[in-house]
Amino acid sequence: PRNGFFLGSRFESTAAADASDAPAEKYEYQAEVSRLMDLIVHSLYSNKEVFLRELISNASDALDKLRFLSVTQPELLGGAGELDIRVQSDKDNGIITITDSGIGMTRQELVDCLGTIAQSGTAKFLKSMKESKDSGSDNNLIGQFGVGFYSAFLVSDRVVVSTKSPKSDKQYVWEGEANAGSYTIREETDSEKLIPRGTRLTLYLKHDDKGFAHPEKIQKLLKNYSQFVSFPIYTWEEKG
Ligand code: ADP
Ligand code: MG
Repeated sequence: PRNGFFLGSRFESTAAADASDAPAEKYEYQAEVSRLMDLIVHSLYSNKEVFLRELISNASDALDKLRFLSVTQPELLGGAGELDIRVQSDKDNGIITITDSGIGMTRQELVDCLGTIAQSGTAKFLKSMKESKDSGSDNNLIGQFGVGFYSAFLVSDRVVVSTKSPKSDKQYVWEGEANAGSYTIREETDSEKLIPRGTRLTLYLKHDDKGFAHPEKIQKLLKNYSQFVSFPIYTWEEKG
C-alpha cells in the first residue's frame, strides 16, 4: 500500500448486462477518499474551475513520465509518437473529454491512484481538515492544497477514466459517481474507444456546471492556469 494507506477493497463482482462486455468490478474507496469526495461534492467552494488545471497537470505529468522512460525504452512510444493533450467539449450535453498520450495506468495503478490518497498535498489537506473542527474552513483548505484528480467531482456528476499503459496489453475503464462510496473498473471492450496509449477522462458535468463545457470558457481557463504546460494542448468543440 502506498503511503501506508489501504488499497481499495474489492467487495463485489457484478456481471454486466451485456454478455459481450467484460464484467465491471466494484471497489470501495479508501475511507479518507470517501471523506474527501463527500467534502468536495458538498462544498460551497466557489473556485470550482481549478478542476481543469488539476486534470491538465495530471495529463502533463503522465506525458513527462512517458518521455522520461522512453529515453531508455523507446519502444514505449509504440508508433503513436505524438505527446499531446486534447480537450474536447460538448456544450449541449455538458461533457468535457481530456485525453493525453502519456504513460496511462494499469488496472492495479487505477486502484492505487484513483481509490486512495496518493498525493502528498491531499494527505496534508486531510490532516488539516481533521485538525480544524469548524467545517467552514474546509472550503479554504480545498484551495490551499488542491485536491488533485478528485477535483473532477467539483463539477462532475460522473467521471469515466479510460486508460492504457504500455505495461499492459489491455485498456481499463474506471468509473465513479459524485454521490457513491464506490467505483468500478472494467476492461474497455468498445473498439471505437481503444487508444494506443495514455488516458482519456470524460467528465459528465453537473447541471449547474455545464457552462464549463463552453469552448470559450475552456480556452480562457487553459490560458489562465495551464499556459506553462510543456506539451501542446489542442481544444475543439463537438456538436452534441
Ligand atoms: P498527484 O498528481 O499529486 O499525484 P492526483 O490526485 O492529481 O495526485 O493524481 C493521483 C495519481 O493518479 C497520479 O499520481 C497518477 O499516478 C495518477 N493519474 C492521474 N491522472 C493521470 C493521467 N492522466 N495519466 C496517468 N496517471 C494519472
Ligand atoms: Mg495531480
